[in-house]
Amino acid sequence: MLPDKKGHFGNFGGKFVPETLMSALGELEKEYSLAKKDKKFKAQFAYYLKDYAGRPTPLYFARRLSELLGMRIYLKREDLLHTGAHKLNNTLGQILLALRMKKKRIIAETGAGQHGVATATVAALFGLECDVYMGTEDIERQRINVFRVKLLGARVIPVKSGSRTLKDATTEAIRDWVTNVNTTHYIIGSVVGPHPYPMMVRDFQAVIGREARQQILAREKRLPDYLVACVGGGSNAIGLFHAFFKDKKVKFIGVEAAGFGLASGKHAATLVKGGVGVLHGTKSALLEDKFGQINTAHSIAAGLDYPGVGPEHAYYKKIGRADYAAVDDKQALEGFGLLSETEGIIPALEPAHAIYYLKKLKAKTKKNSLVILCLSGRGDKDIHLISEKLKL
Ligand SMILES: *Cc1c(COP(=O)(O)O)cnc(C)c1O
Repeated sequence: MLPDKKGHFGNFGGKFVPETLMSALGELEKEYSLAKKDKKFKAQFAYYLKDYAGRPTPLYFARRLSELLGMRIYLKREDLLHTGAHKLNNTLGQILLALRMKKKRIIAETGAGQHGVATATVAALFGLECDVYMGTEDIERQRINVFRVKLLGARVIPVKSGSRTLKDATTEAIRDWVTNVNTTHYIIGSVVGPHPYPMMVRDFQAVIGREARQQILAREKRLPDYLVACVGGGSNAIGLFHAFFKDKKVKFIGVEAAGFGLASGKHAATLVKGGVGVLHGTKSALLEDKFGQINTAHSIAAGLDYPGVGPEHAYYKKIGRADYAAVDDKQALEGFGLLSETEGIIPALEPAHAIYYLKKLKAKTKKNSLVILCLSGRGDKDIHLISEKLKL
C-alpha cells in the first residue's frame, strides 16, 4: 500500500520543508499511525461522521440525466454533507488528531472559503482557536464564506502577497506553522503538501469510495465501469477512487479545470498540461512557466483554482491507473445547468466540470455504461457568481 515510509508515490510526494517542520511532520506521522490503529479514535471519527456530518451520504440514481446521456449514472451525494461539501470528512479527522496531540490552535488555508468554513466548523465544535489564511483577491470573490468563517468564531487573515489567492494563502499558513508549531496544528484542505498529509487526507476521504462501493453492489450487483470526479488538489477524487484501486476494470477519470481554454494559458489543468516540480512541500505535477516559476491558475470554480495537485494523482497518471481530462469554464456552466434542470440538484461549480465531462464520455463509451460521479458539493456558494454570468 502506497505511499512508502517516506511518503513517496513512485517518484512523487515526499517532504520538502524547512528543518523546523521536520519534527512537527514526524510527530504528526507518529500520532496518525497510532490513531489509525486505535479503536477509540476510529469509533469517535465514525460517530462524528454519522451523527454530526450526516454520513452515509446517499448514492442516488440520476434517472433523467441517465436517459439523456444513455448511461446509468449514480451521484455520490457529498453535496448533502454538513457544510455542503466533502471537505468536512477531512477536517473532522484532522481535528480529532489535533486534540490527541493536545494542540490549542488550528490554522488553515482557503481559496473558495469551503475549506475555511469546514475548518472553522470543527474548531467551533471542539472550542479551539482558529485562524484561516485567505488571499485578498479571494476574500473579495467569496464574501459569503468569509462571513461564515467569522460567524463560526474563527479569524480570517488576509494575504496580500503574490497573486493574493490560494497559493499565497498556503505559503503564509506554512510560515505561521513554522513559527507556532508547538501549539498549533495545520489542517491542510486536500491531498497535497508534505507527507503525511496526502496519505492522511486520502484516508479520511476514503469513506466516500467505501460507501459508494457497497451501495453500488447492493443496487446493481456489480461494480461500475467508470468513476468520475473533479480534481483541484484531488481529495474528493482520491476519496472516491481509493476503495476501487484493486478493481482493475473500474476506470478512474479525474476532471480538471481548463479555465479559459488549455491554449489560453489561463487554466488549472495541472495533470493534463503541467510539468513536474516541488510546490508546498511535495513533488508532483504543477503549472510553471518556462523559467520554472509557478504559474497563476485560473478556473471559474475557486475550489479548482490551484497550480498544484496531489502526488498520488501524478502517480496514478504515470502508471496509467487513472485518466485525466479538462473541461473549461463555459462547459462547466453548461454542466451546472444540465444537472439543475434534469435532476433538481444545483451543483457546486467544481463538480459541474465532472458533470459536463459525462457528455464527452457518452461519445466514447458503450450504451448503458455504469458510472458513479462524485457530486462533491452543492451550488449555494456559487449562486451569486452564476447570476452574473447567466441571464435567465
Ligand atoms: C474544494 C472543493 C473541490 C476541490 O478539492 P479536491 O481536493 O480536489 O476535492 C471540489 N469540489 C468542491 C465542492 C470543493 O469545495
